[in-house]
Amino acid sequence: MSVYTKEQVSNLVDGKLDWDTTLRMLQMPKDKERFEMYREVLQSKMSWADEIILPLGPHLHIVRSAKTGEWITKCECGHEFCAYDKNWKLEAAIFVRDTPQAMEEVYPLLMAPDTQWQVYREYYCPDCGVMLDVEAPTPWYPVIHDFSPDIEAFYKDWLGLPVPKKGK
Ligand SMILES: [Zn+2]
Repeated sequence: MSVYTKEQVSNLVDGKLDWDTTLRMLQMPKDKERFEMYREVLQSKMSWADEIILPLGPHLHIVRSAKTGEWITKCECGHEFCAYDKNWKLEAAIFVRDTPQAMEEVYPLLMAPDTQWQVYREYYCPDCGVMLDVEAPTPWYPVIHDFSPDIEAFYKDWLGLPVPKKGK
């Protein structure tokens, strides 16, 4: 039996819990009912038919394309970035805060990091404009590819669920 009701999970998806808590809930070992419920609720809020395989953030998901069967990274608005194992950030709209003026919009004066040492890179969906991720690297650091999730292992070994089909 699952500890969380569908309504609780729905609140969670609506953003009434922060993303760290959400991830912590998802990372509880071997809780396939909870993961399936979470996925179901998330799916019911989407306007498209592609099956959600793995949420990457509040607005970004790895899905199985209803058209091609390929696994791709997709914004909740429907914008499709790329294959799930490629770096979607390279296809996002990027805003770099690399001047004191740009930092002042997010930090009080004198509290901002020195932009010689650290910049902010904000990644936005080119279609709907929602912010999908933020990095705070040193200025010369290449665009970070967070991770390529091992979806097969996540489903099979961790959750004990069948792996979503790839391709037609
Ligand atoms: Zn979008």
